[in-house]
Parts: sequence; C-alpha cells; structure tokens
Amino acid sequence: MATTTTTVTTPRGDAVYNAAVEGFRDDEYPMLHGSVYLDHAGTTPYPKSLMDRFARDMISNLFGNPHSASASSQLSTSRIEDIRLHVLQFFNADPADFDVVFVANATAGIKLVADAMRCLPGGFDYAYHQMSHTSLVGVREEARNSICLDDCHVEDWLAGDCPLRADSGSSSSSSSSSTVLFAYPAQSNLDGRRLPLNWAGKLRRNGASGARQIYTLLDAAALVSSSPLDLSCADTAPDFTVLSFYKIFGFPDLGALIVRREAERAFKSRRYFGGGTVDMVVCLKEQWHAPKSQFLHERLEDGTLPVHSIIALDAAMDVHRQLFGSMLDVAAHTSFLSQRLYDGLRSLRHANGESVCVLYSSDPKRQAGRLGSGPVIAFNLQNSLGAWVSLAEVEKLATLKQFHIRTGGVCNPGGIASALGLGPWEMKQNFTSGFRCGTDNDIMAGKPTGVVRASLGAMSTISDVDSFVDFVDEFYRDDFSLINPQAPIVQPRGSSQLYIQAISVYPIKSCGGFEVPKAVDWEVRLEGLAWDREWCLVHRGSGQALSQKRHPKMALIRPELDFDRGELRVTYAGHIPSHLPKEIAVPLSKNPAVFQPLTPSRSVASRVCGEEILAQTYASPEINDFFSGVIGVPCMLARFPPGGQGKSMRHSKAHLQKHQTAQPPPTSRIALPGSFPVPPSPPDSDSEAAGRRILLANESPILAISMASLEALNKEITQKGGRGVSPAVFRANLVIAPLHEISKHTPYVEDTWSTLRIGHHDFKMLGACRRCHMVCINQETAEKSEEPFVTLSKTRRFDGKVFFGNHMCYTSAAEALTRKAQYPTIRVGDAVQPDLGG
Ligand SMILES: *Cc1c(COP(=O)(O)O)cnc(C)c1O
Repeated sequence: MATTTTTVTTPRGDAVYNAAVEGFRDDEYPMLHGSVYLDHAGTTPYPKSLMDRFARDMISNLFGNPHSASASSQLSTSRIEDIRLHVLQFFNADPADFDVVFVANATAGIKLVADAMRCLPGGFDYAYHQMSHTSLVGVREEARNSICLDDCHVEDWLAGDCPLRADSGSSSSSSSSSTVLFAYPAQSNLDGRRLPLNWAGKLRRNGASGARQIYTLLDAAALVSSSPLDLSCADTAPDFTVLSFYKIFGFPDLGALIVRREAERAFKSRRYFGGGTVDMVVCLKEQWHAPKSQFLHERLEDGTLPVHSIIALDAAMDVHRQLFGSMLDVAAHTSFLSQRLYDGLRSLRHANGESVCVLYSSDPKRQAGRLGSGPVIAFNLQNSLGAWVSLAEVEKLATLKQFHIRTGGVCNPGGIASALGLGPWEMKQNFTSGFRCGTDNDIMAGKPTGVVRASLGAMSTISDVDSFVDFVDEFYRDDFSLINPQAPIVQPRGSSQLYIQAISVYPIKSCGGFEVPKAVDWEVRLEGLAWDREWCLVHRGSGQALSQKRHPKMALIRPELDFDRGELRVTYAGHIPSHLPKEIAVPLSKNPAVFQPLTPSRSVASRVCGEEILAQTYASPEINDFFSGVIGVPCMLARFPPGGQGKSMRHSKAHLQKHQTAQPPPTSRIALPGSFPVPPSPPDSDSEAAGRRILLANESPILAISMASLEALNKEITQKGGRGVSPAVFRANLVIAPLHEISKHTPYVEDTWSTLRIGHHDFKMLGACRRCHMVCINQETAEKSEEPFVTLSKTRRFDGKVFFGNHMCYTSAAEALTRKAQYPTIRVGDAVQPDLGG
C-alpha cells in the first residue's frame, strides 16, 4: 500500500497502517461510494487488490474438477492441497494434529458436526452457551438432551459438576447419552464479548464428565474476523472449530471446519456419503461402500469442492497480509478504534445530562489484560426523557446518511434476552404479537426488542468512528430539554381526593378475577388492561363462548398470572372431581405447539356478544378436561390471536350501547330521584369508537366502579332489609375510592366525567355500563341472589336498562415522549383526577 502515512499508533505502540489515509479507501474500496461501513460483524468488504489478483489468476489458469489426470484437474488438486496447509498455518495449527474441511460457511460446519454426532450410537447430549449464535442453538434439535449454560454453569462444570445429568433440568427427560457436545462462541456476534479459549482444554483435562466423552465445538466466526486464533497447542484446542472466511477477508464465500485429529472418531457413524468421499460403492444386490480412509476431509467434503472459492482464498490471505499486516496488527487496530467508538457513544449526553446511548457492550478498557472484547458495540438510543428510539427509525436514517449498520436481534437469541432483560415468555409473546426479525414494530411493552450494532474491521478508520458518533450526536441528542407543552404538571400520587383502590383483570372471560398486587405496575393498552380477557372457554360443540350468566360455577375458576414461571395457573374453588389435577398451568406465551392446528375445518368460530371471532383452542386434554370437569360442560380453553384482521382478531370492534352513541335524552326523563342522571358523553365520533380495539370484555376496554356509588347502592339495599353486595359482583377492572370520608362524595358523579387521569395517564370515559343478572352471582360462592339487580332496576333504570359502573379507555400518557408513554402502566394507589383541564 503505497500511500500509507501513519498518524496513529495503537496501544501496542505499532505504527500500523492508518486506513484514514487519503486514497487508501477510494483505491481499495471503490464499491463503498463514500459510505461508512460499520457492519464487519456481518461481513467485511473485499478490497479491490483481492479481486484484481483473483481475476488475474482465473484468467491465466484453468481450474478443473480435482481427482482426474488432466492438467487443469491436477492444477486444482495441488493448489487446493497447498491452500489447506495455508489455512492451517493461518491458525498456527499443525497438520499432524488438525485437518481442514471446506464448507460453505460456519453454519455448514456446525451442521456437519451435529449431523455426524446424531448418528453416534446413543446420539449426543448438547450444552451450549447462552451467547451462542442461532446457528449453534439449532444443534439442540438434533441432540437427545440439551441445556443452555451461562458463565456460572460453565464454571461449575469445569469444577466437576456436569450440568447435563438427565435430572438436572435439561430439556428432555430421556436417558442421557454417553457423548456430550459443548459449544460456545469465541466472541459474541452481538456485543463483542469474548469467552475463554481454554475451556476445551480444561474440560478435557478434568475429565469433567466422568465416563462420558466430551467434545468441544468452538464457533470462531466472529473472533477470527479481527483477531488471531492460535491452535498451536493441540492438547488444549477445541475439537471442532468453525468459521467463515468472508468475515475475515470479504471474499470468498467459504467456511472451514477445523477438526482436531483426535476427535475424528466423532464422525465415524456419519451415514450419508456423497461423490468424492468413497473409494468404492456397491449397489444393486449388495449395498456396501468403503469411505476414503486417509483424511477426514476426504470423507466429509461431499461432491465437487468449491474449487474457485478455495483458489480465491489463497489470494485473500495474501492480500490481507499485504494490506493489514498480521491478525495481531488487525486486533490492535480494531481494538483501538472500538475503544474510541465506545467512548464516543458513551460520552454523548442530552442537555439534561441523560445518556443518549444505552450500551450493552462492556467497556473495552475494563477488559484490558483479560480477554479483551471484539470491535463490536451494541446499544440502543433513548431521548432525554428516557423513551427508546425505534430501531427501524435509526436504521432508516443511518441508511439515508450512508452508514452501514445492523439493527435487530442479530441472530443471537440468548444474548438479546440477557442484554434486554427479556424473559423467554416475553420473547415468545413478542413473536406471537407479530414481532419478527426486521419488522418496524420494535419496541414492545416498553422494551426494545433488538439492538443497534456497529462493528469495526481491518479497513475501518478513525474517521469512520468519528463520523458515526457525530451522526448520533446530530440526530439523537436533545440539545434542549424535551417538554410536552400540552401536558399539565402531573400531581404526585395520592394528592387527589380519589385513588385506585383495586385493579383486577379477568384472564379467562367470565371466570374469577386476578387482583393485581399492590406496588405492581400494570400495563394499560388501548384495548384494555394487559392480560384482561386473553382467554375464554368455548363449548366443544357449538363453539360459543361460555358465560357465567348461564354457568355460575365459572366464578369459582381462579386464574393466577405467574410471570416468574411464565404461566397462568388455574385452580377451582369448588369441588374438583377426583380424576382431575388440583391445578393446571397454561403457558403465557403463545407457543403455537399448544394449540390445535388452525385450519378452516377445525377452527371454532366463537361468538362473544354477537360478534364472531376465530379462537385458537388448546390441544391439551389435561387443560380442556379440567375446565369441562369442574364446571360440568364440555368445553375447551381458547385464546385469541392478536393483530391481524377480521374474524381472526382478538380485538373486535367496540360494541357500545345504544345510549352511548345517542344524543342525551331530554332532561325531564332523568329527573327520577336516584336514577341514572346525566347520560355519559358519547365518544367523539363513531369512527373513533369503531376503531378502538377491545378484548373479549364485551363492551369496552376498561370497566371502573366507584366505591361512593356502591356505598349508596348498598344503603338502598340494606334499608329494605337486604344484604349489601361486594364490589366483586360488578367484575370491574378498577375500583375508584375516595381518600377520605366516603359519605361526603356524591354517588354516581362518575357518570358525568368525560376524562380521567390515573397516575400519569389519561383515560376517556365512554359511558355507563349496562347490567344484567350476572351481577347477582356471588363471586366467592357462585350462589345467586336477587340483589343488587332488583334495587338497581329501581334506582338506576333508564330507558328500560339498568346501569352501574363506567366504561373507559386509555388515551395517552400525561407526559408524551417519555418511557412511561411507551409503556403505560397504572398501579393500586394511583391518584384519580376527573376532568382535568375540562
Ligand atoms: C456470522 C456468525 C455465524 C454464522 O456464520 P455464517 O457464515 O452465516 O454461517 C455464527 N456464529 C457467529 C459468532 C457469527 O458471528
């Protein structure tokens, strides 16, 4: 590289190439057209010198299919042999100890190992590290038992405690195999974290699994793109190492599986053989074949080798060394740059002092002397009020500004879950709520579902780093304090006269409620409270959703949301037939496997409040028999798929009562003492009501009742000698109560409210709730009486209908642009303020 003039030295003190030098980039990477490439963890760009050199080689030589006598074939054969050796030398591996198998990419290498080990007598058990790339995770499907390990588990294992006994929480209870495969990445492709390279040796030395044979598979794909990998000590090296050359050199599209010769026997049971891997094959009457015996690679490389790619690899290694020096030089260069990128992003502060970037990669400095970390910085952006910036937005703007970055889950499910604090059921929940890799809706339940990843490589420069930091600074740093001018100042909890006394959801429609524990923030959505009426019971024959009105015993079905275990646990407070379990558990995630296949002929069209909905029924006989058994009706549990359109939608259009959309009736008709006073204000327009999504709550997203009104009602009931009723009979989501002196509060004043602020969030009142006999069912005992319906129909009847409680829906956060606005929640004790600001 003729133009090099070095202006920077790395921490190692090397006078390395400084690719910031004018001319280098334009000469070698004309295909970048001035853009900034920061996705080296995806692939690295290929330099022009490499393509020129490869083209010259291709134009001057003819490379034939190996293994024949022609000159072209001989040329291929001998060049490939040389290159195999060069590859081993690149990794300091002695050909006496290692063999190289050419594969399409790292994934193909992993799959080759998994395929062979599955064929071993007894198969294999699989342990993989939490930071594993998706391609490593997938191996578990071939294993007998599998387990995902974090660092502590691995340390325990190295200390002699094998995590893979059949009784220790592995994913299946089938008997354990005598062979164990342990796989982990040398470097995480998500955040650059490096894992110890001595694990293979330690496991081998410790004989850590007793009589079992342990093999170690190292995924070096991310590590080797910017660091040397030294396999000089065969005793401590991993048995299998996989990598993709395009990540180091940009070209060719080729990978390698490097096998420690001592571990070759792991392949002895591989079944398939392809062309080129056998010395003799007998077909017809006898079926017999003789695998090639000299080299492992001969037995594993099925069919014609990617000859031209292998030829290109030679040029790639040479040109890389000429341009960038050794891999140690590359490591020094990239770690210098990644420290600069890390520091640059971390130092960005909004005007109010809040960080712009939430970084998931650890500070490279603090890693010094230990393993170091790869030049990969993973982060998310937040505004000055703490709201997350959508990944899709970042990606769009970055693309416009000619930055090549990667956003999303980056094929590292375990790493994403631990970086973002997502539980397994949340990931499945996000998936089933329509989240997919690469969709726009990337903030769910107030949490980001992926990261922004900027990664550096040998050809990265100081100006790449600086211009990216400048970009984030320019577009994502708030220079002034963000305030929402419309938002009145939020009063602290408890300062108003009213507060939320209780929050309940009814996870299974028409069954018992689940009272939200105090001090728990509960999500509110446009369609209602989180987990309210997610499920229902449908009749096995008619598909009709069952209602407590006809089946009062449903009140005794008590669902409980257990987020630690990711389960809805259901008990029954009445007599349970002896053949049934005392409790059943339904996964909170919508794992498609638990449902009956949704085919037009088998799906059940349910009717809720006259609206046809397509429910997904559970396949488990245990679950369905439990519900059928306790209430004595043949039924199935069903869940409603969110999103989507029409009948498959969980959210049917709002069915507002007639009076709710009608004009207020003449005042003369509402003058009856104690009767339903001013009719609630109708929604602004029909389209608004129609557009509002609701769950199976029949009438509205959220139902609230007032303790002051209940007190008035109970007074009426007791005056006539009856017994007052519990708030539970109204099956409300929210119970609103006065802080002091309930008697001083006007009953039914809530009917006149048009808006409500609860805590930090604003709600709109949609109208009073029409009541039926269901309010007469005691929710504790499932017994029916005549109150409160009889009294209600005397005191709260209007136009032939009886009302108690009010429908409402979430509209917006009192403070826009905050993280609270992205994840609206309310909790017991929140202040309730009606008609703030009119
Ligand atoms: C890129 C990568 C892979 C997958 O490589 P392919 O070339 O797609 O097979 C696997 N593991 C890690 C750590 C990676 O960075």
